[in-house]
Amino acid sequence: MINLTDSASVANKLQQVPDDVQLGTMMHAPFAVAWFDTQGHLLDCNHAFHVKANFDTTPSLVNSVHSIFPSINTMRWSQLLQELSEEPFIQSSEQILTPSGPSTTEITLRAISQNKNQHYIALFIGNILNDSKYQGIQTLQHEVLEAVAVGKPLNILMETICTRVEALAPEVVCTVLLVDNEGKVHPCSAPSMPDFFSVAIDNEPIGPQAGSCGTAAWRGEAVEVTDIANDPLWVNYKDLALSIGLLACWSNPIFTRDGRVVGTFALYYREKRGASDFHRQMVEACVHLCSLAIEHEESEKQIYHLAFHDPLTGLANRMLLRDRAMLALQQVKQRNNSLTVLFMDLDRFKTINDSLGHSLGDQLLKTVADRLRQQMKPADTIARLGGDEFIILLTETNASQARVIVERLLKNITTPIVMSGVEIAATASVGLSVAPDDDLDFENLLKNADVAMYKAKAAGRNTYQFFQKHMNDLVVDRITMESALRRAISERELEVYYQPQINIISNEIYGLEALVRWQHPERGLISPDTFIPLAEEMGLISEIDQWVIEEGCRQCVEWRKQGIDIKHLSVNLSAADFLNQNLLPTILQTLAKYQLATSCLTLEITEGLMLNSVPDTVALLDKMSEIGLGLAVDDFGTGYSSLSYIKQFPINELKVDQSFVKGIADDEGDRALAHAIIQMGAILNLTVVAEGVETAQQLEIIRNLGCPVVQGYHFCKPLPAEALNEWLQQSKFIQRA
Ligand code: C2E
Ligand code: MG
Ligand code: MG
Repeated sequence: MINLTDSASVANKLQQVPDDVQLGTMMHAPFAVAWFDTQGHLLDCNHAFHVKANFDTTPSLVNSVHSIFPSINTMRWSQLLQELSEEPFIQSSEQILTPSGPSTTEITLRAISQNKNQHYIALFIGNILNDSKYQGIQTLQHEVLEAVAVGKPLNILMETICTRVEALAPEVVCTVLLVDNEGKVHPCSAPSMPDFFSVAIDNEPIGPQAGSCGTAAWRGEAVEVTDIANDPLWVNYKDLALSIGLLACWSNPIFTRDGRVVGTFALYYREKRGASDFHRQMVEACVHLCSLAIEHEESEKQIYHLAFHDPLTGLANRMLLRDRAMLALQQVKQRNNSLTVLFMDLDRFKTINDSLGHSLGDQLLKTVADRLRQQMKPADTIARLGGDEFIILLTETNASQARVIVERLLKNITTPIVMSGVEIAATASVGLSVAPDDDLDFENLLKNADVAMYKAKAAGRNTYQFFQKHMNDLVVDRITMESALRRAISERELEVYYQPQINIISNEIYGLEALVRWQHPERGLISPDTFIPLAEEMGLISEIDQWVIEEGCRQCVEWRKQGIDIKHLSVNLSAADFLNQNLLPTILQTLAKYQLATSCLTLEITEGLMLNSVPDTVALLDKMSEIGLGLAVDDFGTGYSSLSYIKQFPINELKVDQSFVKGIADDEGDRALAHAIIQMGAILNLTVVAEGVETAQQLEIIRNLGCPVVQGYHFCKPLPAEALNEWLQQSKFIQRA
């Protein structure tokens, strides 16, 4: 079969038309062709010829070439045949009868010989070697592709397509609708439609009975309605179309390469009819162009988004944050209002990440991002600067307004998050700085908010701090802090403090918890809450913890020599310690070095570690328990409220978090929780240690709840070994040698 539908190559193809070509092969060709015998009698013609010549209105005259082309009388016909005998094809300008009356047209003739002696003449209307309409489609294609390439906006591109289509086919009204992810349509271009039409259909859902376009998008196939007034698909929209004289509509879905329907391309008619071959040809080209243009815009948007957003959470990145901040600061100067920069850092995120795995860590970050989005107005800038640091620009917000917002945010963040069946209560620490009071330079504001955030961490986390000028002097900026910490380890600036744990039933010392301190040469004592997270992040934690174990063991031997027997020495381990293959061998070597039994050492781990799905960790914990090391769950009740896992792990001690003890006298909820933990510990045969007991009242309540072991300032603060020595000598508690 000969494909003559590509008008660009018609000239070539025309010459290749074999002599025995059948008209049937050109029935749907995009050009008009008719078959005449050598006498000039019409034998047959294709659809396009019908439309152009419109001779079906005068059926009695159809049988001669003259009746269609008045200028081709018998003499002219003979003349043309004569010329054809010398040339493969000829072209000529002749008169034609069209539906709107006679006009002049180009024709192309080609002699076809069939059955040896029989000749037929193929007569093409139009100079098909240079058909302006088909060339029009090509020009349109080039123009639109060029416009796509130079990045013209989508609505301008669509406008160009529609206007060109309407110029090529004045009988149609052309529209492009976009379909969004929720299946709603949005007019993109409809240059000849009245505005009210576009307004009326904007945001309408696609569906099985949603006019031609909505249905085409719904079905994912072209929908041709030749009579809007009576077609059920138009029942809801027909009044709209009929009111502006549109009686038929043919709509084609626009697909992306991955098969999504992203729009529709429609031709409306002012009469009841279907699409012509030319319309089909044109629409085929245009739908393709629209799809290209839409995909191009999508990828542009994506590139823009990637350049200015954090890929994980979709929040703004540093670049966009800076841009927005600059704008906001300009307004602060011009309008004399304020801007608050909110710097939020999740507490112990590193631990969560290390213990639960990175994919759950990522999920947590996404959830936090979503929560921030929900809490803030759409116009607010929320950014993530990598890791677990989130920045929010509170425009036109002063300190007291920001206080209300940050309190609400912190409360919201703490709502437990369930991920893969694990419940996590995340908390965050926030620092805030306010322009113009603190500074008018964005980088400084950010730095100040960061400094304030570290103050919030040091104040116990899950809280916020506004920047104050003096913080800059006191607070450690991160960079110097990092190098200082490396030095601290090599220069032995670390020190171990010990806090007694008292068995309140037997009035004996149950054990001691080793708590590391950093004696900074200039800044004085730095709390582990400040530097442990840093050490975890920097990968220095194993080194510190192994040193604490060594130092603690050495000290225990020292006490033994003095007749003081410490039955349990508790040390804190971070989740990151468990990534270190040498953890257990080093512990065993240390115990052997000081000739201490494994039962002397209790390892305090956090709840998160036990949720680790890494089999290695589980195996390691089992091994530790088997060889007699104690395992305690620290800060119990704060992290992952699921208690069921406790049974599955070789734990022998639970440490009730200080936050419950703090509220135990006044808060019924805290008391109930503490009670539940203590009871559960008893049932599972675990030693329960209450942390942070500061007052006699708290002690009484804890005692009445049946908790056997207590640790807290009420008895003794963490002390250096020597000071603790004195305390031990004076204390009323029994220590057996
Ligand atoms: P933790 O293991 O829960 O330690 C208990 C914390 O509560 C200690 O804070 C202790 O000084 C404090 N505390 C004890 N009794 C009271 C009280 O009655 N009232 C109040 N308000 N606080 C009390 P510290 O020493 O600042 O340690 C903070 C955290 O740093 C520890 O919490 C532990 O998670 C971590 N940490 C400390 N030393 C080490 C270490 O050597 N290695 C690791 N990986 N983490 C450590
Ligand atoms: Mg501890
Ligand atoms: Mg604790």
